[in-house]
Amino acid sequence: MLNFEFKNPVKIIFGKGQIAKIAQEIPADARVLLLYGGGSIKSNGIYDQVMSALTGFDVTVFGGIPANPEYEVLLRALNVIKSNHITYLLAVGGGSVIDGTKFLSAAALYQGEEPWDILKNKIRTDKGMPFGTVLTLPATGSEMNSGAVITRAATQEKLGMGGPGLFPEFSILDPLVVKSVPQRQLANGITDAFTHVLEQYMTYPAQAFLQDRFAESIMQTLVEIAPRIQKDPADYEAAANFMWCCTMALNGLIQKGVPTDWSVHAIGHELTANFGIDHARTLAIIVPVHYRYNFETKKEKLAQYAERIWGIKEGTPEQKAEQAIIRTESFFHSLGIDTKLSKYTDDYQGTAEQIEARFIERGWLGLGEHKTIKPDDVRKIVQLSY
Ligand code: NAP
Ligand code: FE
Repeated sequence: MLNFEFKNPVKIIFGKGQIAKIAQEIPADARVLLLYGGGSIKSNGIYDQVMSALTGFDVTVFGGIPANPEYEVLLRALNVIKSNHITYLLAVGGGSVIDGTKFLSAAALYQGEEPWDILKNKIRTDKGMPFGTVLTLPATGSEMNSGAVITRAATQEKLGMGGPGLFPEFSILDPLVVKSVPQRQLANGITDAFTHVLEQYMTYPAQAFLQDRFAESIMQTLVEIAPRIQKDPADYEAAANFMWCCTMALNGLIQKGVPTDWSVHAIGHELTANFGIDHARTLAIIVPVHYRYNFETKKEKLAQYAERIWGIKEGTPEQKAEQAIIRTESFFHSLGIDTKLSKYTDDYQGTAEQIEARFIERGWLGLGEHKTIKPDDVRKIVQLSY
């Protein structure tokens, strides 16, 4: 097992009817900015629940944060924060609204001229404006971590940011919100969470037995509840387990003491930046080809995963590992998710070369747990995904 430090300060308030508890978490004299997305919270009743919980608070509202939170929109919210002397942010939404709020938390206290520099120059945020979240879509784990991914459409960039100052102070996880989540987003949420676990698991073995079992238990639970939640998002127990799996998949716990990969996300973000493909779907496109391309370094763990997640007991380790990739791809298909880039766009020619050039320009010269996946390898991986 590798050395590690672990601190996660997020207070989780989990369960039915917990949205009413917002008021006890926010200072009474706060000037609150409530941030939300395209308006789903207005039709499913979450907005009303939040507003009623905030009775007596000084609240300003900013809606319209799009999926893949967009820098230009966030700059408008930043103006509201400054002109209204906001002191507390409340994100009500999925990963996009929460990530957008994290950017605002950092940008609100940032001293530099151009807030994009936080992303471009990888400036770590040690202190941000305090914020809480009401999660409406289990998927990203953003509600219990300190990272965010922000898009700038004008330059087709999608970059990550983070720092210890960007943990939410609290997150409310009420599984009742899942009942209004559309099928497409349920499939995305399962896929994103599953891939978060894979990125922290499918590396070389690190003799971290407990971490492996943590990771495997999340994947097993996701595989088990996927058909239930897709059949009936109002199935409370399925929704509750789904929600907790997504949070646990990326709150820092399972990555401790083990090497992590994250190449799938790095490459996937480029596909979203280029084509607007949903985040989770870009991951499903890259996972199978990434594991095939890096088969030699990952086969031991792939074989363990084959046995423990998919029950594959027969064959050599190589055969099990190959079966594991096939089963993973079938799992994504069973959710209704395509795993080839050409299923999402006709305009894919040249994508691999473009991503290779961007990674060279950014100095991303070695991805993966061994930092050996070069831009030239990235090009070949993306080519395999067409
Ligand atoms: P999302 O982009 O936040 O939301 C997707 C869609 O689901 C939106 O149209 C949203 O509508 C709708 N929706 C959300 N909750 C709903 C509900 N209860 N009922 C009905 N519709 C609902 O999706 P996401 O997958 O959670 O977030 C994706 C973003 O997170 C990407 O930018 C990705 O890169 C990022 N990400 C972040 C992390 C991290 O750790 N920070 C990890 C992985 C991915 P409204 O707009 O109307 O709300
Ligand atoms: Fe993700």
